[in-house]
This record gives sequence, C-alpha cells and structure tokens, in this order.
Amino acid sequence: MKLCPYCSGEIKLADRVCTHCGMKIESNKEKQTTSKQKQETKETYEDGLYQAMGLEKIGPLNKWITLILCIFLGIFGVHKLYERKYTMALFYLFTGGFCGIGVLLDIFLILQKQEKYYVYKQRVS
Ligand SMILES: [Zn+2]
Repeated sequence: MKLCPYCSGEIKLADRVCTHCGMKIESNKEKQTTSKQKQETKETYEDGLYQAMGLEKIGPLNKWITLILCIFLGIFGVHKLYERKYTMALFYLFTGGFCGIGVLLDIFLILQKQEKYYVYKQRVS
C-alpha cells in the first residue's frame, strides 16, 4: 500500500488513479525527477542555513580518499586534516585516534557518506 499524494488515502501500489479522490498518480519516473528536484532544493536551503550560521562549506571531498587516509593514517588524524578539521586532527594525533575507537567509528561513518561529500566548519573571522 502507498498513500495518495493528493488526499493521503491508502491506495494499491499498482493503482494509476486514486480510488478516493480520482487524481492521476504520477509514474515512478516522474516521481524520481520530483525527488531529485526536491533534493536540490533541500541542498540549496541547507547551504543558506549553514552560511547563516557562519559555517564554511568545504569540498567536494572524495569518500574513498578519506577512507584510505583513515584506515592507514587514522591514528595520526590525517583524515581529519583532509577534512580541514585541524582541532580534531590534533586530538587524534595525541590520543592515537582516541585509542583506535574514534578511527573505527570514523571508518563506519565515512562508509555512510556519498562518494563526493561536503563538510562544514566554523568560519574563522
Ligand atoms: Zn487521492
């Protein structure tokens, strides 16, 4: 079951026309375009939000570079340098990647990221 986008009534997945309000339901292809546009709108909105918060957008960074740096040099905080997180990099350097736990957690988090991603950091004034 899915919900009709017009009246929120429950309709069958295969239905092309809503059985409640009679509105035509968009096909999957149209839906994908809509969600992509929505995604772009969301990104622009978030950019504006971060800018208003005085955050600097850094990137695009490559997920695989960060991952390799994290796996091999993570305990020295090198992947944090790549992400321009200098305070964290120093912290990792002196704590051995927070005893390896931080590095393991980072590997997991990096894997969740998109291939190209952005990080936001406080703008230095
Ligand atoms: Zn409907």
